[in-house]
Amino acid sequence: MSDHFSLKTINHLQMKKLFRNSYLVYFFLLLTISCSKDNEDNGSENGTNPIPNQQLTGSSANDFLSASKYDKIAFEIVYVEGYKPSTTSINNLLSFFNELLHKPQGVTITERAIPSPGNGPYTIQEIVEIEKKNRTKFNNVNELALYAFFADSNYNTDNSTSVTLGTAYRNTSFVIFENTIIKQSNRPGAPSRPNLETAVLQHEFGHLLGLVDFGSDMQEDHLDKEHGFHCNVSTCLMFWQIESNLATSLLNGEIPKLDAHCLADLRANGGK
Ligand SMILES: [Zn+2]
Ligand SMILES: [Zn+2]
Repeated sequence: MSDHFSLKTINHLQMKKLFRNSYLVYFFLLLTISCSKDNEDNGSENGTNPIPNQQLTGSSANDFLSASKYDKIAFEIVYVEGYKPSTTSINNLLSFFNELLHKPQGVTITERAIPSPGNGPYTIQEIVEIEKKNRTKFNNVNELALYAFFADSNYNTDNSTSVTLGTAYRNTSFVIFENTIIKQSNRPGAPSRPNLETAVLQHEFGHLLGLVDFGSDMQEDHLDKEHGFHCNVSTCLMFWQIESNLATSLLNGEIPKLDAHCLADLRANGGK
């Protein structure tokens, strides 16, 4: 174990330097959108009512993890023309579902291209508006609806040292800033696009599963309080940024994994 650790430390230092010279990448989680009290009056799930899918991030964690209410998922992918996610990363996300979620009736995927909304860089309000115009799948009997949008521009808070790759902004919605992923992966010394895309997809979906301590209670303390509902284990998929250890594993062609703490939280909330 100690050999392994020191080897990692060497890699870590080399790669950290490489990344420091090129770019820093941050994940971002937005938690400010929640339902109004009025909305709670209309919770009926008939496949067309959007309200059950406009709730707080993490609040459907148990619905994703267990089969007690929903035994299948309808996954709707909307992307701007030219920004379609790779088949590899979608398949990797499906494997991630399979490893963690009790969904005996499986996952149905619908993919659809839309023209550019044309108003990037996007605010989260604009991302919400795009969902309002384009999302067609909502919770139905036994079926939990999931929505992902692949944007053609970046997030409005990006700056020269940090960029946002994705955001989980509601209970069943997340956005991937695909234009940023393409830019960040298309340069020397960067992870491949499918690997970076997979890490971001799985990380954002991890927030919909209630990680960390936001929908799935912690079994042991591993919360990185400073960076808002992330894991304090620097090698974990739910660490707050891609730098150091996560950058190293991505550059080695590996997808970062959930650590034992995060896995224990998901199991305790009904997951596999
Ligand atoms: Zn995050
Ligand atoms: Zn973790």
